[in-house]
Amino acid sequence: MAEYFRELFTPDRLFCPGPTPIPAEVVKASTCQIYHRSEEFQKIFKSCCEDLRPLFGTKNPAVILTASGTGAMESVVVSLTSVQDEVLVVNGGKFGERWEKLVNVYQCRPTVVKVPWGEAPQPEELVRHLTPHTRAVFIQANETSTGAYYPVKEIARALRASGYRGLIVVDAISSLGAHEMNMDAWDIDAVVAGSQKGFGLPPGLAFVALSDRALASFTNRPKFYFDLAKEWKGQKEGRSAWTPAISLIHGLRETLNLMHQVGFDKILEQHRRMAEGTRAAMEAMGLELFAKNCPSRALTSVKVPEGVDGVQWLKRVRRRFGMYVAGGQDELKGKIIRFSHLGFISQFDVIDGIAALELALAEEGSKIDIGHGVKTALGYWAKNPW
Ligand SMILES: *Cc1c(COP(=O)(O)O)cnc(C)c1O
Repeated sequence: MAEYFRELFTPDRLFCPGPTPIPAEVVKASTCQIYHRSEEFQKIFKSCCEDLRPLFGTKNPAVILTASGTGAMESVVVSLTSVQDEVLVVNGGKFGERWEKLVNVYQCRPTVVKVPWGEAPQPEELVRHLTPHTRAVFIQANETSTGAYYPVKEIARALRASGYRGLIVVDAISSLGAHEMNMDAWDIDAVVAGSQKGFGLPPGLAFVALSDRALASFTNRPKFYFDLAKEWKGQKEGRSAWTPAISLIHGLRETLNLMHQVGFDKILEQHRRMAEGTRAAMEAMGLELFAKNCPSRALTSVKVPEGVDGVQWLKRVRRRFGMYVAGGQDELKGKIIRFSHLGFISQFDVIDGIAALELALAEEGSKIDIGHGVKTALGYWAKNPW
């Protein structure tokens, strides 16, 4: 909670790559509760599965799970692989590491392509690690822990061009809504997403979109809750296997309405401009971009300047101004900050966040030209109006 007035008058503000801010209409809708086996609810549920399609770029309705994003990742691993399957995993940060842990728990045999943190994998490198027995390739779209965006389209194209006919699975949890996803056109088989990232919802829902190839590839290993074959069968009729997060489904209906109203192309375009304006501002503050060669449009990661304690800097932003900006994890703790502009965030929110970062950085003893970051972002947006 912030000092002074913010504490009294304004809720804390989120600039983390999940959870993201929730629009007022969605908060309101999320208080609704009706019986989930009623015809009325099943109609709403089914319409959500269908209206998620354009975000994934697919003709198949998405499956909705009551879980955080990791639950959707697990559902894909248990539903589409068997013990001893050869799989390829890209590990370029905490979330790639999560794929690696998951496939190990479920006793697949992974080949792990390690990517230096802050960088993206080369498509040819993945192709080199394929074998005739590779059943599935697991990658991120955004490696949220580093702020890197992986070239999903080029990776899928290179894999397919090499003759690979196995499964391609993408964790797009923090990229959906910020980066284009066209799973049918790019020949991708499973894409997972989560409600607290680009959707402007609280955590609690996870989404999985499946290609026809994936739908024909379910395995019969033991599983219970995260059984995508079972969910797919029921959800086509609006019936989830278990009690869904009813209130969040109402919120999802509302957030999808908002997104459809704005238009998906406009939303992607908005994220591009937000990311570019933010990067310009950070560089104007003298901060070096961390994922310089492959920056995400969902978040901007920058190095903490020499002589500044990154943990204290963000603590100060939180304590003084009530704003949450994410830091680095593991070996990057205190070394980078991760500033999110994902979801229902406007240019003016970003301006507030940058101003807070500037003030707190000066208070931490850094000699910066206060206001230069804000001015640069405004200048960028003035030249690139929306
Ligand atoms: C947020 C996130 C997840 C899922 O995290 P949960 O806490 O389980 O929702 C997975 N992958 C990426 C890339 C993410 O950004």
